[in-house]
Amino acid sequence: MKKRYLLLPLVALALAALAPVPVRAAEPGEATEATRQANAAVLQQLPFPDNQDFADAARGRIAPDEAAMIRNAAGQVVWDMNRYKFLNGPGPLETVNPSLRRQATLNNQHGLFQVTENVYQVRGHDLANLGVITGHTGYIVIDPLTSVDTARAAMELVYTHLGRKPVRAVIHSHSHADHWSGVKGVVSAEEVRAGRVRVIAPAGFLEEVVGENVFAGNAMIRRAQYMYGPLLTPGPRGQVDAGLGKSLPRSVVSSLIPPTDSVERTGQTMTIDGVKMVFQLTAGTEAPANMNIHFPELRALFMADNCVAALHNLLTPRGSQVRNARAWSGFIREALERFGETSEVVFVGHTWPRWGQENIARFLRKQADAYKYIHDQTLRLANHGHTPAEIAEAIRLPESLAGEWFNRDYYATVGWNARAVYQHYLGWFDGNPAHFNPLPPVAASRKYVEFLGGAEQTLARAQAAFDRGEYRWVAQVVNHVVFADPGNEAARLLQAAALEQRGYQSESAVFRNFYLFGARELREGVRQPFAKVPPPADVYEALPLDLIFNGMAVRLNGPKAAGRSLTVNWHFTDTDERYVLSLENAVLNHAAGKQVPGADCSVRLTRALFNDILTGKTTFLARVLLGQITYEGSILKLNELMSLLDEFDLGFNVVTPLEK
Ligand SMILES: [Zn+2]
Repeated sequence: MKKRYLLLPLVALALAALAPVPVRAAEPGEATEATRQANAAVLQQLPFPDNQDFADAARGRIAPDEAAMIRNAAGQVVWDMNRYKFLNGPGPLETVNPSLRRQATLNNQHGLFQVTENVYQVRGHDLANLGVITGHTGYIVIDPLTSVDTARAAMELVYTHLGRKPVRAVIHSHSHADHWSGVKGVVSAEEVRAGRVRVIAPAGFLEEVVGENVFAGNAMIRRAQYMYGPLLTPGPRGQVDAGLGKSLPRSVVSSLIPPTDSVERTGQTMTIDGVKMVFQLTAGTEAPANMNIHFPELRALFMADNCVAALHNLLTPRGSQVRNARAWSGFIREALERFGETSEVVFVGHTWPRWGQENIARFLRKQADAYKYIHDQTLRLANHGHTPAEIAEAIRLPESLAGEWFNRDYYATVGWNARAVYQHYLGWFDGNPAHFNPLPPVAASRKYVEFLGGAEQTLARAQAAFDRGEYRWVAQVVNHVVFADPGNEAARLLQAAALEQRGYQSESAVFRNFYLFGARELREGVRQPFAKVPPPADVYEALPLDLIFNGMAVRLNGPKAAGRSLTVNWHFTDTDERYVLSLENAVLNHAAGKQVPGADCSVRLTRALFNDILTGKTTFLARVLLGQITYEGSILKLNELMSLLDEFDLGFNVVTPLEK
């Protein structure tokens, strides 16, 4: 039986290991006149003379501007802020929206910063910020970044400038990987087991951490490549930012330590190493398990990712379940109500802090209202009969909200978020029966191109539209030519050029990355990673068997499995867990705490060994031969079941049709 990974969690985004680069069909182009004009106009539309953000992003910097290059154990560079220095220079960049350029330059500020007395942050060492609170004898670390390598480097910066002291607690503000998966760069599992370090997280944290990527993980990772652009080269015609920070590390060593302390309710307090903390649970907002933290004695408020210096997304473009805008807005207001008058600074999971009660109130109230406005106005328009595309086109934040830099479209866009609200309440269908069951992309595209008089004529007209600067329309229409015939190089190059100009004009870092990565794949095809990344063992250890078997069911190839039936008893001897797995009707079901008589196969093994098989460290067959897995019945039946499970390829096409 060959190695099979059950899933590839998002945290296993080891994206540096790529196949040799094919000959480039074309380099990214320069800004067209239309793009130059559009970007120049932005300079007139927004309050660029307001420099408060630059003062805030630099305030309290302790560490000198160190090399800002982080290497992994193998010596490979996984993080390098030097690649973004081009943003700091004078003068506009014609190929970058000036508003995004501003945000990207702010996110270039990196190092160790003092937020207020006893509160510090390492910023610009990963996508997220690492927070440090100094207690009586040691440190409390908030959110240990995405990767062990970047977290370790951040802590070295802390130790160098604040002194080498023990870490007393690690807090995970929420269940997204950029806030927990570097934990072993900060503390070891042994220290936690020995009771020397507490790990604190909101209720439901572990379930959300392990559950987030089980079912749709492969599709999410592929889309995350588009969203964060870690494979794009940084540069004026490449990646400049990810909105919340620069990008993801180029390769990720992920880790997980299960929490020792769970925050179960708002108002719950803890005092650790002499530092008092009051928690506010914000479940179902930016993340399903989530919390804010108030430090009353330090007069500081940590808002996790619930508030950042960008419009956050109500539905992440990499794919996720849609978020609740109304709840999100309400929790921000609750934080302001509870903690606003006793806070002098607010610091957050990405981007820089804000000081002074007036600034805090303005920031929190206007972020809350941005989400509430999008929520309420989307539903108002939907109730008037407008469809998602129409609402996304029409909706604009009022000037009092849109005029704040922290509400700009760097991470999501207002229109994108409106579509998310529509989806939350009404789903993907807009009610028009013509949209219920249209021809799928390839079949439809062939018809469109035929009706438009063939590929050549369509491209000639599209080129004329391109020359008029109508990139949005060109991208829409040439997509049909590409999907009708992906071998049409002229179509692919024109489509790439149109997406690229859209990217150059985009205020959103995320959609700039989508456009530019799409352009690259149209020109060069999909670059396959060298090898699949072994999923992190820590995550597998924390995965309940129920989730593992559910994940297996998602991999079952229905058409292949049709007409077959079999039953397997599983007994995990070290944890004494029993499961029955049964295939019938091309569906894989499982039942916990059961064994059935007359099963095709009954296997006995340890959960630890099962984890090693799932993470590809060993194979089922090898351990059967070694006698470490024993069975009764037919092992061939189990083999038959495993042969019906699909493996997912991370290199599937997105901007061109799937290969047949
Ligand atoms: Zn985050």
